[in-house]
Amino acid sequence: MTGVWVSIVKCILKVKVAGTNLVSLFKREVGNGMDIRLWLDPWACNDTLKERFPILFQKDKDKKVCVADGFCWESNKLLGGDINFAPWLRDDTNGEGTSLLQLLDGKQLSGTNDRWIWSRSKDSTFSVKLVKEWLNCDKDYSNRQVFKWCKWVPRKCNIFMWRVGLDRIPTLAALNTRNCRFGSLLCGMCDQHEESVGHLLLECEVAMEFWQKIGDWCKVSPLFFFSTTNLFKAHNVEGLGIKEKSVLKGIVFITCWCIWKARNDLRFANITINVDRIFNDIRSIGFLWYRNRGKHRSIMWNDWCGFNLR
Ligand SMILES: [Zn+2]
Repeated sequence: MTGVWVSIVKCILKVKVAGTNLVSLFKREVGNGMDIRLWLDPWACNDTLKERFPILFQKDKDKKVCVADGFCWESNKLLGGDINFAPWLRDDTNGEGTSLLQLLDGKQLSGTNDRWIWSRSKDSTFSVKLVKEWLNCDKDYSNRQVFKWCKWVPRKCNIFMWRVGLDRIPTLAALNTRNCRFGSLLCGMCDQHEESVGHLLLECEVAMEFWQKIGDWCKVSPLFFFSTTNLFKAHNVEGLGIKEKSVLKGIVFITCWCIWKARNDLRFANITINVDRIFNDIRSIGFLWYRNRGKHRSIMWNDWCGFNLR
């Protein structure tokens, strides 16, 4: 083999999961034995016979002999590929011959063609999905943050939150690390701390005013967040039903989005931040989206403002 196939084969040979080589999971199933190489293909056991019985392999001069020619199934005799191999094996005293014959005892040829099988599936069939499962079987994803969309808020809010989770919001601190510098890095809302996504949405005194109001409105204990990851778990409050959790999740998303919008209005249009006005916006936008996008037409404004969703 030359060229690209050499690279592909070299790549496959390197793939190993939990000490098991990918190649060792492919096996040959004997049919008529015409397409399986006696010494070089894995068919009688998990290894090749070349690896399991190196002395015998070395003695046989025809290394590529097929199973149908190298083994006599009627007499259960190993013939090998070379004419001198069988007589040599008769006088063999190293024990490999006996072990090999025991291994091959009971194996039968059939009229069907030889085929490749994937040893990790129940019915031996191969699929890319099974290889993918095998490649991931020793990986632990329990700490991975999986972002779940909120269905009743629009994509722009969901995408914004997805970017928050990845720390991909263009705050002044984030831009600064990417060599985009615009003078002071201080948060425009409080003028005290560096503007990072964590500060802007969680720690800034203005943001905390919003979370205080949201907590009161949704009748949950004061909302405090220590990292952006907490934002995605904020709705998992004990005592809330599925509906309330879904609404609270959406409200958290809308609040973050509105804080970012207010920050942009302040920075680019010099519109001062009025917490009460923005909080009212969050409630009315939330009502509009939940009622129409979430298809909860029966909900009334007073119930929404009192967080009575049952
Ligand atoms: Zn601030």
